[in-house]
Order: sequence, then structure tokens, then C-alpha cells
Amino acid sequence: MNSLPNMHDAEPIPAEARAEIDRLLQSGDLFRYTAPEDAPVALLEREFAAMLGSKYALAVSSCSAALFLSLKALGLPRDARVMIPGFTFAAVPSAIVHADCVPVLCEVGDNYRIDMADFEAKLDGVMAVIISHMRGHTSDMDAIMALCDARGIPVVEDAAHSLGTVWGGRNIGTIGKIGCFSFQSYKLVNAGEGGILITDDADVVAQAVILSGAYEHNWQKHMARGDNRADLEAAFARWQNKLPLYNLRMSNLSAAVIRPQLPHVARRVEDGRRNHDFVAERIAMSPWIEVPAKLDREERAPDSLQFNLVSMDRDEMRGFAEAAAAMGVKVQVFGLSSDNARAFWNWQFLGEIPELPQTRAMLERACDTRLPARLTLEDCATVADILVNAAETVMGEARAYGT
Ligand SMILES: *Cc1c(COP(=O)(O)O)cnc(C)c1O
Repeated sequence: MNSLPNMHDAEPIPAEARAEIDRLLQSGDLFRYTAPEDAPVALLEREFAAMLGSKYALAVSSCSAALFLSLKALGLPRDARVMIPGFTFAAVPSAIVHADCVPVLCEVGDNYRIDMADFEAKLDGVMAVIISHMRGHTSDMDAIMALCDARGIPVVEDAAHSLGTVWGGRNIGTIGKIGCFSFQSYKLVNAGEGGILITDDADVVAQAVILSGAYEHNWQKHMARGDNRADLEAAFARWQNKLPLYNLRMSNLSAAVIRPQLPHVARRVEDGRRNHDFVAERIAMSPWIEVPAKLDREERAPDSLQFNLVSMDRDEMRGFAEAAAAMGVKVQVFGLSSDNARAFWNWQFLGEIPELPQTRAMLERACDTRLPARLTLEDCATVADILVNAAETVMGEARAYGT
């Protein structure tokens, strides 16, 4: 077997970041609103909006902050019901609670995607929807948009972990009214912390900008060049002095770390997809492992791998994770730990937690392992061998051939 790949480290930050950070340290200009124009955060917003093909972008302190600001900018009243998938990160229902709204959880299938029948059944009375493209797995956005558009329900895409994913030729994050992304270290672009929201709606972005902490007339530093100016100026004028300032801004240092990574996104996406598909195909040959297929309209950008264990009881699943760990690959079974932040039954801050039998059954056998884009195919072969061997260690090789 090859030597073990390093499964944890992020990619180094491109060297170009150093000169810019040095310049910022020399001048002390770390605040996005100090310079009259073209601060690194403002440049990042322009570049990110152009990369995704949206009119406006607002960089903030995290994707959670972007989700919170999205709900506020949609003008939802207190206790508005906001639908989310039952499989998402705890920060998502938390953003809803933070915005004084009430999360409604819908079922997710064995393929990690929203169960459209349950989604439709629970849509009445819902005032907004947040679609978490969990671990980059895209739900049926055509069906979701058709149902929501017919009822006038705004859709926010939580694309925290989906930068680079494409649905039917459209960038994920540009399909709903607002798209939110994360720059936390486990995501495709790494600034330690950070987030960004994109939208084509001038009224939404104007509110989000002010709410994020553009006090006094600092919104003038968000004026897009060229097109889109008049709409935006009118929207800012409408909201001047009318909104609270939550101060969820991004610092210039974060923008300096993020900007030189943007030209690497396409390569990271391509390598991540290559690595994912390579390992997925190999481990799916094991009778103890099933890798759900993507939906037809989806082009993924994975930096991790999810798969379901087949015909294993809880002890066998634990044994599988232990065997893989002993060989050097850390696998988490979402539902086996008592504190996993992606298992809805651990979201005790909700008070009453609804039961989602289908989502629970999926989480109880769904596994998660990191698979960074920087791994070579040789590394990936090692990872795949370890996963298959770990299953055989627990379940036995003989049974693996159908006896
Ligand atoms: C990481 C993540 C978040 C939270 O992002 P932060 O920037 O850490 O707030 C939200 N949703 C999903 C699906 C995530 O993967």
C-alpha cells in the first residue's frame, strides 16, 4: 500500500497574498471603509460577483452571517416560518433563530437531497426557504424553484460548501433570490472565517449592506461600477437610517487572503471532482458501501466524500470507522456520535425537535470523509483501498462475494 495521504491540511494560501498583507500591515488599513474606494473587500465583492455572474455581492464575517442578513433583508416578520432541509449544519437553523424566525425541517432522502414530496407537503405557511446544498449535494432546484415561484416564496441558497457547483448550466448560488457562501477553512476557498452573499436584487443587497454595518453613508463604497447604479442608489436612499447595524463586516486582511485564491477555484473544482469520482467508483464495488448518484442536471465540486454503509448494524458501523481510522482515514458516521452538528436531533436549541424518520435513517448509516482537491490519484487509490478493506475487516471478505 502507498504511504498515507495527508487528509487534513488545506492547500497553502497563494504566495501573492503575502505582498498585499504586508502592504496592509504597513499602512494599517485593515477596515473596509477607511479607503475612499477600491478597498480589498470591495474588490473581492466585484470579482466574486463577476465570477458567479451575479449583479451584487456583499462580503461578511461568515456564511452564517450572510444567511442571517438574507432573512433580515427579505423583511420577514417575527416568527415567520423558514423551511430548511433536515440534513444541514446546525449554523443554518441557528441563523433562522437569530433572525427571530422559526425553522421548519423537511425530509432528506438516502441520496442526501431534499425529499420533494415532503418539501411540497410542508410548504403551506412557509415565508422563505433556505436550500442547503449540503456537502455540495444539490437538490432538485428546478422542482424547488417551480414550487416556490408559484407561491411567491423567496429561496435563499446556502451554498457554503458548494462553490463551483453547477445546476443545469447555472452556477449554484445564482438560482434562488440570494446565494450565500463560506470562506471558513473547510470550504473550497479558505480565509479561516468569512462569507459572502450574492443577489441580483438591488433592494435586498442595499438592506443587507446597511444591516452588515455600512453606517452613515458608507454604502456609497458599495456602488457598483457602470450598470446597476441607479437602482442601487435609489434602494440605499430608501433604507438610509431605517435599519439596525449588526456589524458583520469582513476585514481587508480576509479579503487579501481570499482574492488570490479565486483564480484557483476552477482547478480546485476540477481536481476535487476527479478525486471524488475516482474514489466513489472504487468503493462502490464493495457490497457494504453505496455511493448515491448525483442528479442529472448537477455538476459537482466536491472536496469531501459521502457514502452509505449497507447491511451493517451499529456495532459493525463503529467497527468500520475504527478499522478505517486505524489505517489512517478518518470517517464519521453522521448519526453515530452524540454531538454531530449535522444530526437534527442534536439541535436542542430548537426546543421541540420534529421527527424526520427518513432523514434519521439516512444519517444513521451515512459516512463523511474529507477528500481534499490537492490529493493525487495515487493518494485517492490508497483512500479507496482503506475504505474497502475496513468494510471487509468488519464484514468478512467471503460474504463480500455473495455467499
Ligand atoms: C460551513 C457551512 C455553513 C456555515 O458557514 P460559516 O461560514 O462557518 O458560518 C453553513 N451551511 C453549510 C452547508 C456549511 O457547510
